[in-house]
Amino acid sequence: MPAPGDAPVLHLTGPVLVDAETVRPEAWVIGGRITFERPMHSGTPVRVDGWVLPGLVDVHCHIGLDSGGATDRDLAVKQATVDRDAGTLLIRDAGSPLDTAFVHDRDDLPRLIRSARFIARPKRYLRHYAREIAPDELPGVAEDEARKGDGWIKLIADWIDREVGDLTPLWSPQDLAAAMARVHAAGARATAHTFSTEAIGPLLDAGIDCLEHGTGMTDAHIAVAAERGIPVVPTLLQVDNFAGFADQGEARFPAYAARMRRMHARRYDHVRDLHDAGVPLLVGTDAGGTLGHGLLPREAAEMARAIPASAVVAAATWDARAFLGADTLTEGASADLVVYERDPREDIGELARPRAVVLRGRRVA
Ligand SMILES: [Zn+2]
Repeated sequence: MPAPGDAPVLHLTGPVLVDAETVRPEAWVIGGRITFERPMHSGTPVRVDGWVLPGLVDVHCHIGLDSGGATDRDLAVKQATVDRDAGTLLIRDAGSPLDTAFVHDRDDLPRLIRSARFIARPKRYLRHYAREIAPDELPGVAEDEARKGDGWIKLIADWIDREVGDLTPLWSPQDLAAAMARVHAAGARATAHTFSTEAIGPLLDAGIDCLEHGTGMTDAHIAVAAERGIPVVPTLLQVDNFAGFADQGEARFPAYAARMRRMHARRYDHVRDLHDAGVPLLVGTDAGGTLGHGLLPREAAEMARAIPASAVVAAATWDARAFLGADTLTEGASADLVVYERDPREDIGELARPRAVVLRGRRVA
């Protein structure tokens, strides 16, 4: 594979949205990096016109997973490529049964922050996805996965309990607290799948760093998440499936079905409540299990039905990058960027029409 330095110099005629505060009129891409200094001796740069944003960030995406469990490497590469071509250039995966560390060595694939393997209990999550353990193993296994991942782990915090007929938490508050302490001591952070209300309090008490779905959060939970700056990833495309889950569960699990319908009906109001309370929101497609890849523009459009498009663009770019410790389009940063004809903060639908996708300084789409 050619080095990024072989790519032609690009002239981004701008505007260039560096981060929430900074707009630069134009920029150049040289040797894979962003610069705001006009190059002196690099011939005629290739001109790219339009609004330039940092590469989109999908914080809930599963590379190396499909409905049957782990994929092979070739399919994982295809998944990551589809995401890339939609403008997603940084992925925090939300658990994968495949060891996808090889993605780090591929200059043509998005940057990947792995959460290693999901952690769940037997029969309390989708089959073939998770490392299935006994509850009292949680602290040790959480630390082990923290050491295998790229600074994140993923817990399944609740799931339907078929004996109870409704969602219930998988872990005791004590085991959760012990697990979180060990993850943090290992220098990692933890996020958790949660649909229910019951799982949230213990997750917040244990010091969870991020919440996936978060559909069961009450006003009191929302206030705590806002105060501590704990992001929620609403995954509205996935929550749209709740009505179907309710239909499937109706006959045997009516309480579960009623709860899922309630949360489905409130989904946009819930996201607006989170935003209005000041909870940081991030964008996650939940691609991999049942949802396809490359859907970040669609997820963003869903979120923009609840909150301003400018907030969604921030969530998909600089806010997510700050949270994950990744660069935006500052001087010398890797040129991971997407170019649009118009400002997506004015029309979120623009995210679905990238003019150019540039990864590590090379135009990939
Ligand atoms: Zn997921």
